[in-house]
Amino acid sequence: LTAGGSPFGDSPGGEFALIARHFLDLVPGGAESGVLLGIGDDCALLDPSPGHSLAMSSDSLIAGRHFPADSDAEGVGHKALAVNLSDLAAMAAQPRWVSLSLTLPEIDEDWLAGFCRGFAALAARSGVALVGGDTTRGPALVIAVTLLGECRSGQALRRSGARPGDAVYVSGTPGDAALALRLLQRGEAPPEALRRRLERPEPRLELARALRGVASACIDVSDGLAADLGHICAASGVGARIDAEALPLSAAVAACGDGRQLALHGGDDYELCFCVPAEREMMLGLALAEDAPQCTRIGSICAEPGLWLLDGEGVAAPLAAAGFDHFAGG
Ligand code: ADP
Ligand code: MG
Repeated sequence: LTAGGSPFGDSPGGEFALIARHFLDLVPGGAESGVLLGIGDDCALLDPSPGHSLAMSSDSLIAGRHFPADSDAEGVGHKALAVNLSDLAAMAAQPRWVSLSLTLPEIDEDWLAGFCRGFAALAARSGVALVGGDTTRGPALVIAVTLLGECRSGQALRRSGARPGDAVYVSGTPGDAALALRLLQRGEAPPEALRRRLERPEPRLELARALRGVASACIDVSDGLAADLGHICAASGVGARIDAEALPLSAAVAACGDGRQLALHGGDDYELCFCVPAEREMMLGLALAEDAPQCTRIGSICAEPGLWLLDGEGVAAPLAAAGFDHFAGG
């Protein structure tokens, strides 16, 4: 250690002191974490499990775009990690190591401490060690997270495995996050439970583990249920029919005039949408833990490409797969 108290040997107010203060011991990972060398050198050294493939995913959150600049810092820390955990969940991978790159317009110690609390709490209970990152100054607050995980070779759930006849399921009650966002944008306070669905999404890691060997395809719902199911269909070369009356709506979403639209096209839910071959639907019930999130059968995969919404009489209307697209409309 130097006079500044930083193992990185610079002044107390400097970048390295900042890293040491906030990140060095944030989520170290225990003896079983596979971290041979964590924060403090030029690279982290990681020890993957034999017989496993590495799964890697990156997602960035930009202040003012992905969350309001005045959002609760702890919630932002939670969500920055949660959206990446959700991507690993979608493939039934086990998350293990995370890298956190922050671009900060200014050093706000209170904000950073809150951010780190939210990030660390979720990392610790997900079994993820923080092994590196980058800290720079820049014009806007940007949080870039790269998450590494593992899955036994051949066990990852992909988007491309859906086949005609498979049942389509969704976990939870999609549309909640979009409703919370709508209320906030109108200047209304959403009920606490709804607000949590937007600000503290719970990545469906345990559900995903149960789906190994059961689901034929899986995706996490970030852009909207229809858009994300559309990705499964495109990757699998199939189409899907959704039964409008089967959509699981929370009471709050059901009370909206356009509740089904919210459930189909609202983003940010981080639930799982997955397909199950008919002969494995029995296994699904057995595989789900007692405290698993509700999983609802909302339709089926068909050979004809495209998405279709069936009304109560079984009449099919084409369903636009439109979800949130950062580059849409120029
Ligand atoms: P380099 O200049 O070699 O890229 P840095 O000075 O950026 O190294 O970072 C020093 C160490 O601190 C590295 O091990 C890096 O992974 C880690 N680090 C930097 N910022 C963060 C952060 N926000 N979270 C976690 N680790 C970080
Ligand atoms: Mg660096």
